Amino acid sequence: MNNENTAGACLQSPQDCQKLAEMLFPHVEKSPADYEALYPPRPLPEGAKVTRLGPSPTGFIHLGNLFGAFADERLAHQSGGVFLLRIEDTDDKRYVEGATAIIIDSLRFFGINFDEGATPDGEKGAYGSYTQSQRGPVYQCFAKKLVAEGQAYPCFLTEAEIGEIRAEQEAAKLTPGIYGKWARSRSLSLAEISQKLAAGLPYVIRLRSDGDMSLPEEQIRRFEIEDAIRGKLSMPVNDQDTVLLKANGIPTYHFAHVVDDHLMRTTHVVRGAEWLPSLPIHIELFEKLGWQPPVYCHTAQLMKIGEDGNKRKLSKRKDPELSLDYYRRLGYHPAAVREYLLTILNSNFEEWRLANPEADIDEFAFTTEKMSNSGALFDLAKLNDVSKEVLLHISAADLADFLLAWAKEFRPELVSATSFFADRAYLERVLDIGRAGSKPRKDHIYAQQMVENISYFFDDMFTVEEEMPAEAAADAAEIISRYLASYDHADDQETWFGKIRQIAADLGYAAKPKDYKKNPQDYKGHVGHVSTVIRIALMGRSQSPDVWEIQQILGESRTRERLSRFA
Ligand code: GLU
Repeated sequence: MNNENTAGACLQSPQDCQKLAEMLFPHVEKSPADYEALYPPRPLPEGAKVTRLGPSPTGFIHLGNLFGAFADERLAHQSGGVFLLRIEDTDDKRYVEGATAIIIDSLRFFGINFDEGATPDGEKGAYGSYTQSQRGPVYQCFAKKLVAEGQAYPCFLTEAEIGEIRAEQEAAKLTPGIYGKWARSRSLSLAEISQKLAAGLPYVIRLRSDGDMSLPEEQIRRFEIEDAIRGKLSMPVNDQDTVLLKANGIPTYHFAHVVDDHLMRTTHVVRGAEWLPSLPIHIELFEKLGWQPPVYCHTAQLMKIGEDGNKRKLSKRKDPELSLDYYRRLGYHPAAVREYLLTILNSNFEEWRLANPEADIDEFAFTTEKMSNSGALFDLAKLNDVSKEVLLHISAADLADFLLAWAKEFRPELVSATSFFADRAYLERVLDIGRAGSKPRKDHIYAQQMVENISYFFDDMFTVEEEMPAEAAADAAEIISRYLASYDHADDQETWFGKIRQIAADLGYAAKPKDYKKNPQDYKGHVGHVSTVIRIALMGRSQSPDVWEIQQILGESRTRERLSRFA
């Protein structure tokens, strides 16, 4: 038999494999059965889903994580299951102090809470440890099992040798990696291995893959799997002798995730599409360990329309909106972000929302089948539109609370050094302007924008931001004096506007814009220009809600005082 190309060949006898396992892992105390007993299947109702988020502790948690976490959270909590947090810190170069707290806080802000797992002060749950760096003995135990069964082996290839192999493969246009004849350590005898170990040579533990890609195309084995988002997937089996444990004994993602998701009794793995190419490795590992794989849900990449009009992946470098901080700093309401994320997570959400405008978002039945598999388009303008609708359903009192919490964190001077929050009832009336009735105004988008949008209501923040309209600038002082002279705070809206029309007509402006449009040469301008003068005097800007309503909130003395500056 030519074992160079015979995938899966094992030079050691079953007895040798056992010996090798003992040699490599003398300290493993527990058996696989011990771990199975320690982490038994969860006593959950039929259909309950167990999901997990497995971030690496870099402290940077982004929109993509939130997107996935949202799906995890919904799947678990909608089904009466469990959502857990596992810290995937096997790459210690990326560790950032306090990262667990950052992850938990960032997600909690958006209404996503874990039931189990890592917390800043210890762990919660019976399936821990939930921090991969604490799970060394668990990985060792299952690596030992694979070695004992001839399914994994120590590989002594050096970096330099691997480099040469890669160069050779590149030159021959072959798939790179350690497989088939390149997997030279596969064929070492027990005696050879013992010698290398005695000489203290570093080694990794590799999977002994059964796949063989050197076979003719039609003989290459394939496997089929039902991805909950993508449907049936058919892929060639793995043929790579993937590293399971690195030279320092730390597991790779591939191995750690398989062991952890099995022992934590994860039922659904929601993760990015970038993991799809390594799915064959994971499936082979589940098979070799004799475990049922979880249901995989490979989510679409978050995309945006780039500067050139084409879809592209959101990038950490170019797109500040990828960072969750962006939404916190600007003060997007978490309910708005949740609502928006659901519109991109589930294609039927918007239709549901139209039919159920008042329903709690958690009543929506989230499903993986309605998730896109071809790139989820993220669009800030759409987020803003969704936010306008969502904020319309939040009472002025709650909006004021939200603004205050945001300002304390991001604009403390707004709380300590301005009158913005000084009169709570006043602030609530301001926030409620134009929100009643069948055609409510949708002015509010996010905290920072709201503060800017209503700042003119507060004398210490009021500034005149715009010029008087050219058509009426020369008459501005005259218009304001006449307006002040005729001003009666008790006027109803009609009487009030009648007076403005009168002033307009008296000063040579058309009382109706359409008359001006017909015969512009007959007038200086029209009533709109005249009322813009008043608007700018009162609000400092030409765009605002209804002036009469604003005056009612400003109150008579503040209204008169502002007008007097221009009279
Ligand atoms: N630690 C992996 C990552 O940050 C998690 C992937 C997974 O959810 O399995 O991408």
